[in-house]
Amino acid sequence: MPGEFALIERIRARARRRDDVVLGIGDDAAVLAPAPGQQLVVTSDTLVAGVHFPVETAPADLGWKALAVNLSDLAAMAATPAWCTLALTLPGADDAWLDAFLDGFLELADQHDVSLVGGDTTRGPLSITVTAFGLVPAGQALRRDGARVGDDVWVTGTIGDAAGALAQWRARGPASAKLRWRLDRPTPRIEAGLALRGLATAGIDLSDGLAADLGHVLAASGVGARLELGRLPTSRTLADHFAEPRRWELQLSGGDDYELCFTAPAARAFEIEQALAALDLPATVVGQVEAEPGLRFGTPDGGAYAPAAAGYQHFDGGHA
Ligand code: ADP
Ligand code: MG
Repeated sequence: MPGEFALIERIRARARRRDDVVLGIGDDAAVLAPAPGQQLVVTSDTLVAGVHFPVETAPADLGWKALAVNLSDLAAMAATPAWCTLALTLPGADDAWLDAFLDGFLELADQHDVSLVGGDTTRGPLSITVTAFGLVPAGQALRRDGARVGDDVWVTGTIGDAAGALAQWRARGPASAKLRWRLDRPTPRIEAGLALRGLATAGIDLSDGLAADLGHVLAASGVGARLELGRLPTSRTLADHFAEPRRWELQLSGGDDYELCFTAPAARAFEIEQALAALDLPATVVGQVEAEPGLRFGTPDGGAYAPAAAGYQHFDGGHA
């Protein structure tokens, strides 16, 4: 597109470079030097205007989120983020938009010492694809297929806030700025992922909702689980705005929290609590892994509960 090279130069001028970047933005491809003994962990996620974010979302929030969702995948693999690429499709060359986008993107990149090493810039409807590269000592990636019968099911932080913000936005009624912040500025749980190396048996990040995402772990591991709805970690703000059972529905079926869900033997519970407390990130046991496939829910009064929806699926008519 016209102005493409000026945009790329604007990006290059602001991107910081780690020592292990042999060649960054500017050549035909980047050259990177992973440390010996490390395995490369690679993930890619696309944000499309109107599908993954409201079109009026501030560009700085978009920049943050485009990288955050990718770093969250690395966190769920217990990888240390190192590099990323950025493929931008833009309706036109807009310096002010790009600068604001980079404010959010590079703020998060710098926080985690991630170097932007390349990408692509094209014209079209607004869409952002980020690929993130992380490192993990050989064999130590946290996979989805390691959950064992009897393991605890854990969740970091609180869940449902981002879904609450989306619900308020869709209703066009009163909206909580606190909830909206969780939707626009998710915190990838990188340090938590690293702390869980050697403790957790399986892990995933919560992008599509606890029911769907935990479901992937259980299916990959060939097991099932029972969750106690009364134990779902809930922010006061979410509880103030949404009563049960609507709140449970948001927490189980709403995505975008980017907390981690992981499984671990009960014998490791104390170590996990201590490791995450040291990071100022509470984690909560919400259920147990069982042999019977599928997901079951218990309510605080001892009843059963069947969720209304099972998470977001793009090629399944939206919410199932
Ligand atoms: P080519 O035509 O060889 O693919 P480009 O003109 O697309 O080269 O890109 C030139 C350089 O700028 C490459 O190093 C590429 O990785 C980088 N680049 C292009 N777009 C972006 C972007 N949005 N963010 C970061 N780097 C980019
Ligand atoms: Mg190119």
